[in-house]
Amino acid sequence: MAVRDLNVLFLASEAVPFAKTGGLADVTGSLPGALKRLGVNVRLAIPFYRTIREAAFQTRAVLNDLHVPLGREILPCRILETETPDKVPVYLVDSPWFYDRPSIYGEGSQDYGDNMERFCYFSHAALAMSQRLSFRPDIIHCHDWQTGLVPALLKGPFRQMGASSVFTIHNVGYKGLFPEWRWDITGLPWEEFFHAEGVEYWGLISLLKSGIVYSDAVTTVSPTYAQEIQRPEYGMGMDGILRHRQVFLRGILNGADYRLWNPSSDPHILSHYGPEEMSGKKVCKEALLRELNLDGSMAERPLLAIISRLDNQKGFDLLLPILDALFAMDVGLVVLGSGDGHIQWLLQEAERRHSGRMRTHTGFDEPLAHRILAGADLFLNPSRYEPCGLTQIYALKYGTVPVVRGTGGLEDTVHPLDYGTGEGTGFKFYPYDGWAFFGALREAVAAYYNPPLWRRLQTNGMHTDYSWDRSAGDYLELYQSLKVAGK
Ligand code: ADP
Repeated sequence: MAVRDLNVLFLASEAVPFAKTGGLADVTGSLPGALKRLGVNVRLAIPFYRTIREAAFQTRAVLNDLHVPLGREILPCRILETETPDKVPVYLVDSPWFYDRPSIYGEGSQDYGDNMERFCYFSHAALAMSQRLSFRPDIIHCHDWQTGLVPALLKGPFRQMGASSVFTIHNVGYKGLFPEWRWDITGLPWEEFFHAEGVEYWGLISLLKSGIVYSDAVTTVSPTYAQEIQRPEYGMGMDGILRHRQVFLRGILNGADYRLWNPSSDPHILSHYGPEEMSGKKVCKEALLRELNLDGSMAERPLLAIISRLDNQKGFDLLLPILDALFAMDVGLVVLGSGDGHIQWLLQEAERRHSGRMRTHTGFDEPLAHRILAGADLFLNPSRYEPCGLTQIYALKYGTVPVVRGTGGLEDTVHPLDYGTGEGTGFKFYPYDGWAFFGALREAVAAYYNPPLWRRLQTNGMHTDYSWDRSAGDYLELYQSLKVAGK
């Protein structure tokens, strides 16, 4: 079957450059472009959030009179069209009632109370739209719980569409749980779908489980995470159903979009550099120290960085207790993050004790993320679990040496330094333990003071290739196998 005959519709709750809270948006923003370059006829649909409206992307209305059933109501919907920088067509599902809000998922640390309605509406609207447009998807590729209803709808009320579904788990920790009395909103027949082998999860509705159970193929974002989530320690209660579906489950490593994340062309950094010419990195480091008002002496000392959601998943409970010991090694630390207020408070408290050497910048700031990647020496990912992780992949490209816990995609993308051969790209530890993390950091700091070794590490990392060109082909192969099987 010719690749150009393959129609794929991506459904996601966020995508770069339109709306982003984390790595999901990086993936859904760049994977469609990579598939397009392989010849796939791919399109994307996302909700039309306020931020997209205000950013004034060029849009045109393609459907003005769509009607979307939601529970007992039939709600109006409009579909606009725009495109990604790769010229992938993007459908924007417009419902001001649901999406014209300050944020994507919630405000403060509070999710919107009607997120079930918001994303079930999106799922129904995307399928209703697909029936009206001339673009008929062979494969609907859904991402995370927000679109987990779609594979069930395709096995139920939308069966006649004949489309197959792929469901990608970007984080099994977000299960999309809602009380059973809200079942009507799904639009699914109760007897057929609400049971232990279906959408039910311990008496609740789980939209993540819906995606896992009813899709024709399940993927997750790294090979190691695909194995881990089949075990109770990492499966977050979904391990049983994932083991049950293991023949349909595979891990495909996320890619990076090196057109956006590359120190040789990054528009956000002061001086460009590459593996052959590193002087620009020094300029970026000095600029970052000035920008964050950090002690100028840090220019000659290791500058550590974290860019992350402030969440228990990300290992802050390992970092915080070892901070004093860490600063005793005479290092600097920059944290860029948003999320949990308590973690933020603890970080700011530590900053007060180590002023001049530690800076916590709270909020979501994409240009600053680029400047930190370029300016820091070491990048820390001590995650409790990490489905793939993109920041360590970006750090490698910026010659910022990662220190990671060997889990999920961190295990797959960072290779420990081999002192014998000089091979390897970073430092790793395994037990979820602050002192194991500290041991890896101490080793990394020692390597920093060995310039030839350090240069070798940086160069090894900068030459790694985790571009989508490696992984998009795996998705293509999967889509083709589903289409041939006529699933
Ligand atoms: P996750 O998806 O679990 O949040 P990833 O490492 O896969 O983690 O992706 C995180 C993405 O979000 C990266 O592109 C990272 O640069 C970005 N990011 C995270 N926190 C911030 C922040 N506070 N400001 C800017 N970018 C951020």
